[in-house]
Amino acid sequence: MSNQEFVEHTCGECGIVFCITEERYRQLHRTGDDFYCPNGHCRAFTNTDAKKIAELTSNRDYYEDMARRKQGRIEHLERQLNSYRGHAKRRRKLQRQAREG
Ligand SMILES: [Zn+2]
Repeated sequence: MSNQEFVEHTCGECGIVFCITEERYRQLHRTGDDFYCPNGHCRAFTNTDAKKIAELTSNRDYYEDMARRKQGRIEHLERQLNSYRGHAKRRRKLQRQAREG
């Protein structure tokens, strides 16, 4: 007697219902590997964990890249602001010297 759990699965090609061990079912979901229905149709779970991880990783890379760009832009603007402040300070100094001189 086996204590394995089975999961019912319907073939998307022919509609036949067949059973896969839960362990195998989870594995197929995780890996996206091909499997065959009793009528020989080649099936695979498309929304696999591997795919989800790849998607999330690509999202993460995108946002990290965006954050880096924004950080670069902020640093650029800060440098620009400091340069303007420097100019303004020099101008005020020159204006004061002109008034006093
Ligand atoms: Zn089938």
